Amino acid sequence: MSTTQELSDFREHARTVIRERIVPLFAEAELSGTFPRAAFAALGAAGLVRQRWQGGPGGDPVRSVILAEELARSGAGGVAIGCTLAMEPIVAALRRHGGNPQLDDILEQVLDGRQLGCIAASEPTGGSDLSGVRTTARREGGGWRIRGEKKFVSLGPVADFALVLARTATEEHPAPPQLGLFCVPASGMRVIKPLRRLGLSSLSTAWIGIDASVPATALLGRPGLGLVVATHALTFERFAAAAQLAGLSLRAIELATAHLHRRTQFGRPLLEHQALRLRLADLAARLTVLRHGVYGAAAGAPGTPALGAREIAAFKVTAARFAEEVVGECMHMFGGMGYLEDETPLARMYRDVRMARLGGGSDEVMWELVAGGLTPDFAAYDADVAVTP
Ligand SMILES: Cc1cc2nc3c(=O)[nH]c(=O)nc-3n(C[C@H](O)[C@H](O)[C@H](O)COP(=O)(O)OP(=O)(O)OC[C@H]3O[C@@H](n4cnc5c(N)ncnc54)[C@H](O)[C@@H]3O)c2cc1C
Repeated sequence: MSTTQELSDFREHARTVIRERIVPLFAEAELSGTFPRAAFAALGAAGLVRQRWQGGPGGDPVRSVILAEELARSGAGGVAIGCTLAMEPIVAALRRHGGNPQLDDILEQVLDGRQLGCIAASEPTGGSDLSGVRTTARREGGGWRIRGEKKFVSLGPVADFALVLARTATEEHPAPPQLGLFCVPASGMRVIKPLRRLGLSSLSTAWIGIDASVPATALLGRPGLGLVVATHALTFERFAAAAQLAGLSLRAIELATAHLHRRTQFGRPLLEHQALRLRLADLAARLTVLRHGVYGAAAGAPGTPALGAREIAAFKVTAARFAEEVVGECMHMFGGMGYLEDETPLARMYRDVRMARLGGGSDEVMWELVAGGLTPDFAAYDADVAVTP
């Protein structure tokens, strides 16, 4: 386990790299609508991706939280999310389910920031129910031919490869259809349509067509396990998203606090108007709980509940809805200026944050996971409740 000093040094190093190498790329990336590969390359070259993934099967979750939070806090919007996508679900899947020289080589390059990967799971026909994907993987020679369409592929137009969820049809398993997750190179992907979006312009999200012949080694895990592999990878995306949303909320609250200090109305700084001060305090109080929860869960502090897919879903959905509220309230505290595009970053943050309730699985999909763990206490019910159901 890392010492407090080591983690503090890691945060300082990450902050410096993000400030000097990533933030300067952001404005142009938003304007052009293109994720800057140099951003992820900078994280890799600085050793930050490797350090995040050092240690056990999940790497170092506290470093993951620190990186995600610092990226979001820097104000790098879609670029921050793109870096986290390239670092979290991609590495998680390759590390756990790669295990052959070809995939290991790709993993090594990702850890150094020399290759950029993306996830291609959602399709035009659906994103919540991934068991219904129509992209096919058919045996061809010793490998696979992957064909289909993937909607909403973030980083798709600029990535070196995609992890593609596809339906495998093999002689051994003709029915029911099974899923596999395949590593498909950019040469087998084409942009059908760049997708114009409400926010996150720099995330390079596109509708992607896939037609690729890949070797047998491109399959992560085994045929039929695609949904398991993809779901495992998505839990890393979701937990990092919770940390990222905490970072975004922190930035919004810090900006709003500064504004309430500086702006005067009715003869007093806005911060001295109790209605605003206490609303900001309420948001800050709830953010404290979220941040402590995320860090505590990542550190696996003694006595904390185990962190499984359900708990991660709970963090993600709660953080997404909370961050949306925080950014909306903080934008409001800037008055009319908060609504302008050129005078504060709040309007853009407000547009960007909305996507958190969908990306990596929507609120309802997260709540379904949480609902699966609801446990009745019939003994207490029978003892304390005197109603006839
Ligand atoms: C900007 C952006 C980037 C994205 N990037 C990626 C990416 O990189 N890779 C990728 O694979 N996907 C990506 N996505 C897709 C995203 O994961 C999906 O949009 C999301 O999972 C929802 O799927 P859907 O859009 O098909 O909506 P649907 O599945 O059609 O759902 C529509 C609505 O119904 C609700 N719903 C669905 N099922 C249930 C249920 N059982 N009970 C109650 N409510 C339900 C949903 O929550 C939603 O509100 C991205 C999306 C966006 C907008």
